[in-house]
Amino acid sequence: MSLIPKSHPRAKSLFIREKLVVGFENGLVAKEGLLAHGRGEAFDYLLGEKTRKAAKKAIKAAAAQILLANSPIISVNGNIAALCPKEIVKLANISKAKIEVNLFYSSEKRKQCIVKVLKKSGAKEILGINRNSSIKLPGLDSARRIVDKNGIFTADVVIVPLEDGDRTMALRKAGKKVITFDLNPLSRTSQTANITIVDNVTRAMDLLTLSCKKLSKRNKKILKEIMDEFNNKKNLSDSIIEIRDHLTRRSHIA
Ligand code: ATP
Ligand code: MG
Repeated sequence: MSLIPKSHPRAKSLFIREKLVVGFENGLVAKEGLLAHGRGEAFDYLLGEKTRKAAKKAIKAAAAQILLANSPIISVNGNIAALCPKEIVKLANISKAKIEVNLFYSSEKRKQCIVKVLKKSGAKEILGINRNSSIKLPGLDSARRIVDKNGIFTADVVIVPLEDGDRTMALRKAGKKVITFDLNPLSRTSQTANITIVDNVTRAMDLLTLSCKKLSKRNKKILKEIMDEFNNKKNLSDSIIEIRDHLTRRSHIA
């Protein structure tokens, strides 16, 4: 039971924070994940805690990209498993994407906790847990480079919500198309991904699923046009302008 009263002016943000804390206490989230969440919260505040136009555009392009993929995959870490496990499974089902558990701060115990939560949320097949099918992604040090050879390694489109910059770069170098959710339009991940959704993953994940559902009725030519029209650099710049405009509005009220 949550101790946060619904009437609290920042209830939504506190509920999300609570999910992370519970996730940490249950062994899903790494300490560093809590800090990463804090950085996200700060950018969400600056964005006005709303899904802005640029994010909606990126979501549409991401849906088109996923539907056009031969072998899409969603990479799940502790924060994502704590924040939106059901939404991940929904997206995977609608888009026929696989699910792989892939951790920045790897630990077998944490991996098992994440698998348990995903299974409880309805996931059937989860990759990244069988040592026999693990393989090294070139260009990265340490545990972060271990991926599943039936998953991320062979995927053409990788959805990496809340990813680190080095890993995003390694995925790009390995020839993958990378879709990310990142509230910070200035992060290396945002700047390196093919499609960056600058929005809180707790708002945007369901919107992406909805967009996949809608666009699945469209033919490949139209999907390709949507993708080709999208320019990530321009979209990131629009997101920065949205933050600036929000701050300008706030500075007038203050
Ligand atoms: P990079 O390595 O890409 O330069 P970073 O080192 O600043 O980024 P990381 O901790 O590697 O940050 O990645 C976490 C990213 O996830 C941050 O950019 C943060 O803003 C973002 N983030 C955290 N929580 C959320 C959330 N709920 N929704 C969307 N993005 C989030
Ligand atoms: Mg980083």
